Amino acid sequence: MTNLTNEEIWRGVLSEMEVSLSRASFVTWFKDTKIISKENGQIVISVPNGFVKEWIQNKFNKQIFQQLKQIDNDVREINYVVGNPFIKNADPKIFTKEIPLEQIQETSDTDIDPKTNLNRKYTLDNFVVGANNELAYAASMAVAKNLGKTYNPFFIYGGVGLGKTHLLQGIANKIMKDNPDKRIIYLPAEKMVSELIEGLKNKTIEDVKMRYVQKDVLIVDDVQFLAAKETTQEIFFATFNNLYNRNKQIILSSDRAPKALSAIEERLKSRFEGGMIADIGIPAYETRLAILKMKMKSKPVVLPDEILEYIAVNIQKNIRELEGALNRIVAVVDLTGREPTLKDVEKLLKAYIQASYRKTSAQTIIKTVCDFYGITLSDLLKKSRKTFLVRPRQIAMYLLREDTKASFPDIGSRLGGKDHSTVIHAYRKIIEEADGNESLKQEINLIRERIYNKA
Ligand code: ADP
Ligand code: MG
Repeated sequence: MTNLTNEEIWRGVLSEMEVSLSRASFVTWFKDTKIISKENGQIVISVPNGFVKEWIQNKFNKQIFQQLKQIDNDVREINYVVGNPFIKNADPKIFTKEIPLEQIQETSDTDIDPKTNLNRKYTLDNFVVGANNELAYAASMAVAKNLGKTYNPFFIYGGVGLGKTHLLQGIANKIMKDNPDKRIIYLPAEKMVSELIEGLKNKTIEDVKMRYVQKDVLIVDDVQFLAAKETTQEIFFATFNNLYNRNKQIILSSDRAPKALSAIEERLKSRFEGGMIADIGIPAYETRLAILKMKMKSKPVVLPDEILEYIAVNIQKNIRELEGALNRIVAVVDLTGREPTLKDVEKLLKAYIQASYRKTSAQTIIKTVCDFYGITLSDLLKKSRKTFLVRPRQIAMYLLREDTKASFPDIGSRLGGKDHSTVIHAYRKIIEEADGNESLKQEINLIRERIYNKA
């Protein structure tokens, strides 16, 4: 249960939607919407007309549901009703704030080029570089300047909301600016798969293939979604080879390293591994703060550093959430016309912070790990090198580090006086292994579920 009002909840959802849509679609679909009731996990959202209702239901329902669920875990069902058009929106200013002209141009729908699917707002210039994405950024620059020559294919991987799509589109936008004659296509893998399936069904597959191989640059985002059908992988493989053999640039992204793409054929994986691979990790505090400052530039209000610092400290793992939090505060400042205090900000971001950084204790972690593996605490603290004890110990160290942010020496002393270098080693080992090992990832998720369901 959350004690936020319906207005506050909806405002939270809207600020998330605002990040993921162009200004024009955001206003079109979400103007004059509001939550009109919330009972027993059932949310009723009023929308201005049947057209909007259908559109939201088909296109955004899942995303809205996820956002609502993050803010209030009890949400089970959403109903949309066509409401009284005279009901004033909960937060009209979100829709009427004056936006500098450049920004309107930057995010309007006409800037999503239907031929390339690219959005101009993602550039390499407004991508903030930190230790977490340095390599990916440098390689992106190199690729944009040296098409098909330096790194081919170029494969970027990393978790959700860490800037993969931004980088891919940034490369594409740079190429279009520097070499307007180059033909580029950007495809989310899901879209590619549906184009292929459609093509097979309608017997237009040759046209679809032709459209891909006629390009100088093929960019496929989120290739983990290629999975599924063998035939689509087959066509993808052929397309890949065709372009590759003619030195056309191929750029790919995924949420995990190529070797961990379990649903993808070996021969395709080894193609992916044949070029440059760069990962994007979680940004450090300074980078998060720099990103917030960068995003601030296109907002209609200015927030004091103190508030940006608060957001950067508290939202750590996902830049999309970081940006969502910023938008939420900006919307409120714009609405009330008054600078919020830290207390206000704390209240506004409570839902985000709880969702993205759940609290637990070292004790809970240790106890849960022991229970999970069926060993006793003294087993865990022993110096024994038996495999069935080493793994749980390493996982405990990893979770203590990740989820409580305890220092390595602290973790060592909690776990029976181990040296901090042992802890660092264990921590790194788990990260490395989990990267290519779905069952280990699963194991960690299961343990986390237990840890947080206890709280
Ligand atoms: P992913 O594709 O990895 O899920 P996105 O590229 O969609 O993530 O990034 C989510 C949001 O975070 C986007 O609005 C993007 O502009 C922003 N973002 C991520 N990393 C950076 C960065 N280094 N500098 C500026 N903005 C960033
Ligand atoms: Mg993406």
